Amino acid sequence: DGRIVAMDEQRTDDWQYSLRPRKLSEYIGQDKAKKNLEIFIQAAMNRGDSLDHVLLYGPPGLGKTTLAGIIANEMGVNFRQTSGPAIERQGDLAALLTNLQEHDVLFIDEIHRLSRSVEEVLYSAMEDFALDIIIGKGPSARSIRLDIAPFTLIGATTKAGSLAAPLRDRFGIISRLEYYTPEALVTIVKRAAEILEIPIEDKGAMEIARRSRGTPRIANRLLKRVRDVAQYEGKDVITDEIADKALSLLEVDKAGLDHTDRRMLLTMIKKFGGGPVGLDTLAAAISESTDTVEDVFEPFLIQLGFINRTPRGRMVTKAGYEHLGIAYPE
Ligand code: ATP
Repeated sequence: DGRIVAMDEQRTDDWQYSLRPRKLSEYIGQDKAKKNLEIFIQAAMNRGDSLDHVLLYGPPGLGKTTLAGIIANEMGVNFRQTSGPAIERQGDLAALLTNLQEHDVLFIDEIHRLSRSVEEVLYSAMEDFALDIIIGKGPSARSIRLDIAPFTLIGATTKAGSLAAPLRDRFGIISRLEYYTPEALVTIVKRAAEILEIPIEDKGAMEIARRSRGTPRIANRLLKRVRDVAQYEGKDVITDEIADKALSLLEVDKAGLDHTDRRMLLTMIKKFGGGPVGLDTLAAAISESTDTVEDVFEPFLIQLGFINRTPRGRMVTKAGYEHLGIAYPE
């Protein structure tokens, strides 16, 4: 029944929200990005300035949105959130920008998906805190300049490379988020378990951490699912044994690959002789979008050393073959 679903979604939202750290000191891992931001935030605040514009990039689920929210919180300003595809016309962006208060943070997720015309409005907004608006049409059209409050734009993207150079150049701070180490993820899992009041042993947390693709969002999701299995089995604490059992049920293997990751590797081996295979061909062969393959599956498999990117396409490595238990063709 629709209402139950809606309520459940609501709860999931709250759950995510309550898990979000609010302070830089509560944000685990990403030491390089954190250290830089700490310095820049402190300096901007001491000067009484808005923070310079920040570009965060890296695979999905690594905490870009979370970090943007923390920056606003640390600066003591409002946090306004939108995404590239949501801003369709120049007027949509103008409305957002004119409503900002001094030093506010405007967060644009998937900023690489802004349309060119919207992007152009952003240039003068970022550089001069001004909007150039065209009034009227045809020969009587004229442009007026509207001042807006100094603000901080935080853009998030999975691929910094697909950002137009004029936009990229207008960010004073560019931070790349990395996959988390298992140790950092253990801390994140234990923190989430504590907030959610799920008893968990260190080894149980480690098992989840190791199999979460270096990604907090996945770690938190797996924690929930493992809890379900533990409950079903009548266990009141998550051990490594119960975590392993649950993760196997979910088809998450020892390296953290899920069903689709393995299917992609297998397809590369069976259909394309291990590669090289082009991105579009590969995506079509496994019925996923090119973006998903490039942003989600591929970076993690590269990180594990299971595939390589070569100029001729993607190739499965020896380690990739071995992981699937298939002999490597010498
Ligand atoms: P992105 O914007 O990069 O896709 P995100 O910020 O939306 O990622 P979330 O989905 O919010 O990532 O991350 C899931 C959850 O993981 C967060 O709600 C938060 O509880 C937790 N989390 C993420 N990063 C950290 C971190 N560095 N320290 C502690 N918890 C974190």
